[in-house]
Amino acid sequence: MISRRSWLAELIFVSFSLLLLIGIGLWNGYPATTLLPPVLLYLAWHLYQLYRFSRWLERPKRNRMPWAIGIWRSICATGSELRERSRKHKRRLRSMLDGFQESTDALPDATIVIDDHDRIEWWNSAAAELLQLSGRSAKQMSIDQVIQDPIFRRSFREQDYTKPLQIPAPLDQSITLEVRIVPYGKGKRLFQARDITRLQQLETVRRDFVANVSHEIRTPLTVVHGYMEMLSEAEDEALQPWHQAFVQMHKQSLRMQRLVEDLLLLARLESSRGLDAQGPVEMEPLLHAVREEAEGLSGDNGHQIETELDTEVNIRGSVNELYSAFSNLVNNAVRYSPAGSCIRMRWGLRQGQPCFSVSDSGIGIDQEHIPRLTERFYRVDIGRSRQSGGTGLGLAIVKHVLTRHNGHLQIDSEVGKGSTFSCYFGETENRGQRAEDRGLSA
Ligand code: ADP
Repeated sequence: MISRRSWLAELIFVSFSLLLLIGIGLWNGYPATTLLPPVLLYLAWHLYQLYRFSRWLERPKRNRMPWAIGIWRSICATGSELRERSRKHKRRLRSMLDGFQESTDALPDATIVIDDHDRIEWWNSAAAELLQLSGRSAKQMSIDQVIQDPIFRRSFREQDYTKPLQIPAPLDQSITLEVRIVPYGKGKRLFQARDITRLQQLETVRRDFVANVSHEIRTPLTVVHGYMEMLSEAEDEALQPWHQAFVQMHKQSLRMQRLVEDLLLLARLESSRGLDAQGPVEMEPLLHAVREEAEGLSGDNGHQIETELDTEVNIRGSVNELYSAFSNLVNNAVRYSPAGSCIRMRWGLRQGQPCFSVSDSGIGIDQEHIPRLTERFYRVDIGRSRQSGGTGLGLAIVKHVLTRHNGHLQIDSEVGKGSTFSCYFGETENRGQRAEDRGLSA
């Protein structure tokens, strides 16, 4: 910084020189003539210094730092110090930027920075390789010119960045990418794409394995179950000592059959891309059938099953899939609530959305379990679930069906008071295909 001492020295020098010149001028009788040339000379010198300084500021590399005396020496020294500081700062920033670029280049995921006009601003080498981005022209391109997948384009246009999408790679359809957009700053977005082909292949192998095993087991199981049923009902004296064992085996084979059926249903829901049928769903007969099944399950327990139905509200979708989902929920209500208690099914608009809900006054569920209930085989009380004939797959099926119908499940419950399971459907028009295309799963 320019010191006060330099300014003081300059002031003293100027004042002293002026006084001396005025004195000489008064002495020789020509004060103006004596004063003017040195003042003009002083001004010219300052102007010249200013010119050299400004030239140096503009192009410090080409012009040498002006040699100076007096206040200008101090000004030049400060200028040079500031320049050196800014150079160091720049160097530090550059090394930080290089470090950032190197680390993002090392990322295996394709990363692209999109500006507020949807244009590509920057990309790492994984993106260059995966999406063939190169040169200046890529910088002018919009991201949806590079990725022309209709699902991606639609969600990009609608600024729907909530869920990652699974789409084929633009240059090689055999590669599956999981893409995600994260908004940041003022209108900027970070695009990330990950090659999940291998993961998807493994997932397909797993799904096929479960489906094949279940399928293979189904026939022998039906035979075993048939015999067990026959033996458990046989009234032959010779078989009486085995009666209990046959009844138990019959019960277990029935449980296995249910498990196999549920596994097959889940596998089918996971692997088929579209819905079975997408016509308008007749809710009245559907709920009637669900109710009849639940009443059958309740049997002597005599649960009172009530139905509230708003026939004005309709959706499109697969009747079979919706039947599976709704009956799972109502059957659960029967299995987890005391005999004779009331179970209420409702169909109508809730918060502006078509909604099917089942309320019971049963055992309820602790809050800590609710987020995990739709996981396969997740049960609050395994013993109780098995005893009541549960497979642990019911709510996983419900979630899959809802996802395919662009819906979601909401669970409200209080231990000892009861539970309400609500299925919200996104739109009255079916968008199950879209949800499936996006690869959403429970
Ligand atoms: P399960 O065949 O074991 O019933 P589900 O997937 O249908 O499997 O349900 C998962 C778990 O959620 C159940 O084991 C049970 O603990 C709990 N649950 C489901 N519905 C109810 C309900 N209406 N009341 C209380 N608990 C329930």
